Amino acid sequence: EAKSRGPNNYLAFEAWMRDKVALRASLEAKLRVAIKDKAIRPFYQPLIDLKTDEVCGFEALARWTDDEGNSIPPSVFIGIAEETGLITVLFEDLLSQACHDALAWDDHITLSFNVSPVQMEDRLLTARIFKALTVNGLPAHRLEIEITENALIQDPSSAAAVLDELHDAGVQIALDDFGTGYSSLSQLANYRFDKIKIDKSFTATYRDDERQEKIVRAMLALGLSLNIKTTAEGIEEPRQLNHLLELGCDVGQGYLFGRPMPADEIAPFLHARNRTLAAE
Ligand code: C2E
Ligand code: MG
Ligand code: MG
Ligand code: MG
Repeated sequence: EAKSRGPNNYLAFEAWMRDKVALRASLEAKLRVAIKDKAIRPFYQPLIDLKTDEVCGFEALARWTDDEGNSIPPSVFIGIAEETGLITVLFEDLLSQACHDALAWDDHITLSFNVSPVQMEDRLLTARIFKALTVNGLPAHRLEIEITENALIQDPSSAAAVLDELHDAGVQIALDDFGTGYSSLSQLANYRFDKIKIDKSFTATYRDDERQEKIVRAMLALGLSLNIKTTAEGIEEPRQLNHLLELGCDVGQGYLFGRPMPADEIAPFLHARNRTLAAE
C-alpha cells in the first residue's frame, strides 16, 4: 500500500528495530545472570515403553522462571544461549544436575538429554559429557543424547566421530524431530542411530489426515527395518496412542502420559502411576 511507505513508516520501522535490539540485549543480560545463579533447571518428561506401559526414561527439558515469575520458553533462551556461546556452561550445569537426579531413578530408566547442533563444534563435548557421568556416578548406558538433523549437516564426518565416541562408551544416540529437517533420510544412511523420535507435528494431526498417517506409518516401518527404536512425541489423546500402538511404535511421549516436571515430583508421579496401573 502506497500510504504505508514514506518517511513516517521508516521511522516506525527504525523504532521497532531499536526495540527489538534492546529487548534482545536485555534478555541476553538476564540469561547470563540466570545461568550464573543456576536459575535454569532441568524438568523431566516421562517416556513410556508402549509395549509394557512402563516408564522407560525421562527427557530433561530446560525450564527458566525469571524474577518476576514469568517463564521463558526454551525456544527463546536456547537460541540466545547458542548464539552467545553460553550454551556450553548451561549444558554442563544442566547435564550434571540431570545425571545427579537420574541416580535416584530405577536402573532401567534412562535420561534423555538434548544437545544443540552448535555443540557439535565443541572439541571438548565428549569430555564434558563423560565428566558429568563420572562426577555423578551415572553409568553411560543410562544416558541418551538427542540431536537433530542439523547437528550432522555442518561437518558430517566429525559429527559422526563424536557420536561414535559416545556410542562406544555406551551412550545411546537418538535422532530428534525426525522428519522436519532437510535431509532426514540421508542422516539415517550416514549414521547408525539407536532411536528416532518422530516429531510431534506428525503425531498431532495424522489421524485426521490420511496422507500424514501414511507418512507416520512409513517412518515406523523404516525404524523397524533398520532395527532402530521409534519414539513418537506429542501424544495428547488416547486415540493417537492406540493408533501408534497398532502401527508398532516402541516409545511414547506427550501430555497424555505426563508433562515435564521437577525432579522431586518424579517419585510421586511413578507411585501414582503404578497404583493406577495396578487398579486397572
Ligand atoms: P524437543 O527436544 O523436541 O522436546 C520436546 C518438546 O515437546 C518439549 O518442548 C516438550 O515440552 C514438548 N512436548 C512434549 N509433549 C508434548 C505434547 O503432548 N504436546 C505438545 N504440544 N508439546 C509437547 P519444550 O520443553 O518447550 O522444548 C522445546 C525445545 O527446546 C526442545 O524440543 C529442544 O529442542 C529444546 N530444548 C529444551 N531443553 C533443552 C536443553 O536443555 N538443551 C538444548 N540444547 N535444547 C533444549
Ligand atoms: Mg528432544
Ligand atoms: Mg523432539
Ligand atoms: Mg522439537
